[in-house]
Amino acid sequence: MAKFIDIGVEKDHIESLTKANGINALAELLWNSLDADAGEVRIEYKSTALGGYDYIKVVDDGHGLTYEKAQDVFSRLGGSEKKTQTQSPTGRQYHGKEGKGRYKGLALGDFVKFTSTYKNNDSFSEFTVTIDRNQLSKTEISDLRQLKKNEGKAGFKVEISNINLKNADNALKTENRNELEEKFASYWISYPKFKIFFNNNELRFSSLIKNSEQKEITVEQGELTYRFIIKVLEWNFENKKKTYLCNAQGIPFLETNLGIRSSIPISAFIQSVYIEKLQRDNILDLYEADEVLQTVFKASKEFAREYTRKRLHEYSKEFIQELKQKGIYPYKEPADNIIEESKRQVFDIVALQIHEYLPTFNDQDDRNKKFILTLVSEALENDSKNLRKILNEVIELPEEQREDLADLLESTSLSNIIDTMTEIKNRLNFLNGLEQIIYDKELNKHFLERKHLHKIIIEETWLFGDEYTYGVDDVTLKNVLKSYLKDCLKRDDFEEIISSEDNSNLETIPDVCLWQQYSLGTLGKENLVIELKKPSLNAGILEMGQIMSYASKISSDKRFPKDKTRWKFLLITKDVKEELEPQLKQKNRKFGHVTEGENFDVYILSWGDIISEAKQRHEFIKEKLNLNLQDNEEGLDYLKTKYKQYLPTDLKPQYSNNYKPINIKSKVCKYCEKSDKETTFKQQTHLLPELIGENNIYTQDECDSCNAIFSDYESSFSIYIRPYITLLGIKGKKKIPAFQSRTIDRNEKTRTTLKHLDNNQKQLHIQSLEDYSINTDDKTFDINFRKSPFTPLKIYKCLLKIGLSLLPNEYYNFNKQSFEWLTNRTDYINCIPYSYNTTLLRKYFSTPFADLYRAKNISDGLIDYPEHLLILAFGNQVMQIFLPFSEELRKSDYNNRQLELNLFPGFMYDDIENLNGSSIHICDLSSSESITENHKISFSYGEAEINIQH
Ligand SMILES: [Zn+2]
Repeated sequence: MAKFIDIGVEKDHIESLTKANGINALAELLWNSLDADAGEVRIEYKSTALGGYDYIKVVDDGHGLTYEKAQDVFSRLGGSEKKTQTQSPTGRQYHGKEGKGRYKGLALGDFVKFTSTYKNNDSFSEFTVTIDRNQLSKTEISDLRQLKKNEGKAGFKVEISNINLKNADNALKTENRNELEEKFASYWISYPKFKIFFNNNELRFSSLIKNSEQKEITVEQGELTYRFIIKVLEWNFENKKKTYLCNAQGIPFLETNLGIRSSIPISAFIQSVYIEKLQRDNILDLYEADEVLQTVFKASKEFAREYTRKRLHEYSKEFIQELKQKGIYPYKEPADNIIEESKRQVFDIVALQIHEYLPTFNDQDDRNKKFILTLVSEALENDSKNLRKILNEVIELPEEQREDLADLLESTSLSNIIDTMTEIKNRLNFLNGLEQIIYDKELNKHFLERKHLHKIIIEETWLFGDEYTYGVDDVTLKNVLKSYLKDCLKRDDFEEIISSEDNSNLETIPDVCLWQQYSLGTLGKENLVIELKKPSLNAGILEMGQIMSYASKISSDKRFPKDKTRWKFLLITKDVKEELEPQLKQKNRKFGHVTEGENFDVYILSWGDIISEAKQRHEFIKEKLNLNLQDNEEGLDYLKTKYKQYLPTDLKPQYSNNYKPINIKSKVCKYCEKSDKETTFKQQTHLLPELIGENNIYTQDECDSCNAIFSDYESSFSIYIRPYITLLGIKGKKKIPAFQSRTIDRNEKTRTTLKHLDNNQKQLHIQSLEDYSINTDDKTFDINFRKSPFTPLKIYKCLLKIGLSLLPNEYYNFNKQSFEWLTNRTDYINCIPYSYNTTLLRKYFSTPFADLYRAKNISDGLIDYPEHLLILAFGNQVMQIFLPFSEELRKSDYNNRQLELNLFPGFMYDDIENLNGSSIHICDLSSSESITENHKISFSYGEAEINIQH
């Protein structure tokens, strides 16, 4: 006897389930058939004379639904067998879930009768289920009827009557059929054996699909990797451009918009077990919140765009051929690299779109056509935004196509390449131009007004790294810099960028500070502070000290939270003095990274360093992009156009880079003033004695007799520093010299010797017990180096010679007496015969260097300062001396005034954190008598092997 069951849900719920549009409702019924392994599904319907339908039937030859399961499925909505099984008995993937699909029949009509015939032992069983939309609580399930042997066949039949005309039309009208076909196409590609008929007309999937392409991607989430197939199907009919989320076999569970514009009819199918899992867990509807799916969506859009572009290009071939034959194709040369090729591809697509969608285009004569096409090709040279503008404003392409094109360009990797390429090309041009204006002497004399340079630089902060592309001018930052530079540090070098009309002369412009602030996201902010020095100044120890000290002050300003603010200080000068070399090249640091604090870094770089680094960075990308670049002149042109307002109009490129000064030996000795008629200039003379290390800096104005005097000074100097030289292994003219101590009471057996062996080991031979002592408390031992006799004043003179050879000619006259004293033409001079020595703990100068500094003010009325200070560095030694008083200082009444000796602190050369470790040792060099001196050097254990002879 038939029984009635209550479907057991609210009417609202069933309403919502059955509200599907006709196509979706029919699709659900078809999926149910396919889930039951149907090979053939027939949709039958009969139209009435009045334009309605008598009935709709969906009949399949699947395995049917068993009576038990039907009771389960129909008695409660959540009771589908599909919930636990994902494959039908013959291995096809299930589409529907929880039986919802069965109710979709109610969207097509009020009465739905299901008839299931299935194999039950040797024969078939059959039953019906009848649902009345208006009486859901009275859903009737018939008794199970056993068919006779050889009677009936398995299958499922859905008969719908009391038809909902609107939905039925939607489902059955031939013009809507493509939409239905689209839904099944991907599945059909996986399982091409099934057939669907509409009143005996078979759906012909193969003729619907024009082309298809697929790719596989994987997405990682935690430790799991999910595999996705992205399939793009191109149809032979206009479609609604959707993306289908499918299981691995291509059965769509959910559809959404394709999300890209495409002027050719495509759909995307994303297939994966991952999607199936979400469907099973009933959370597929939340796909927009699913990170994995979002990644896949992105890839799918990208794939679809590339597909569209490629196909459009193929379609454009014929038309492009025509343009070429007419001679109005704007590219005359064949593409010789990938960029050029891509550009032409985009051009071809755009041209085709114009041809197809701009009705007036085809009516125009070839000259006009050519004009438009040239315009497009030129826009492509610049960037895709330009093209968009041209499409909008010049070529009145219908909006839809315009948007399609713009979208295609904006989102494909191709347009990225074109834009990147343009950007790189512009940047390299910029760098070439910049290099010219900074290093071309003739050129920068004319127009290197630094305020112009500033204006330019602050707009091009990518120069300092790509992370510095988008910065902002921050008021707090400006105020902090202002107060520190001007008020606290008494420096005038805070300068706001000057208006471009101001054309004041270079000399009157102080050093300038530029700043930009960069967001580091949640990490806070980074402030980039750039100090630009006047071009005549090269960075040295002094400048380093300044920037380090204000870096540490500014970076601890309370207006910026310390844990949320990073600072980068950058000192840029035209060149960097050699004395800074070791600071620039530090272990485990980037070149130029001279120091770092808790929240700041200080860099010192020359323009050359910055330009070559930026060039390298961009050349690399350029190489990747395989494009040609213009030479310097075009670089200048680029700067000229881009920064027209900042550059003088009469700027002309100069080519004096080709000329270099020729070193001609002087015919007058700088030291004794004798000409080549009175003396000879045969020796090759070094500016720095080779005993402190090999070097190739020569003086050109030192005569042979002066050279002989200086050699005598050098031998005293050599004795004085010998223990260091041997210990450090500094190679002089020939080899590393050995140290040999003086004897005690002429006893040869008291000598201590120190040799530097080839394998970089030192061999110390101590014969006198007085020459060493071991201190077990702090694990050190001291060695007493008994030096041979030397003359201290000669050491001072040796250093003075270096200082005077560095003295610029303009100061020569005021220091004439120093030269006379140096060459023994006068006996007395007013000087400070001391050297101030620092042993560095961390830095090591592998090549020696010397530099001469001049006091900014020699006297300020109360205090006098020696005019010149020489710094000499080699190995781990730094020596400083003041040059003898210049005439000017001697004139002043310095007896009544204070003399102040401003030395560079030892830590300047060393690790700033180690400032306690390196101190300045003052050596009295005033004696003109030969003296002996013992030099005690401490070692910690492990630095040497001790082998004591008995
Ligand atoms: Zn001379």
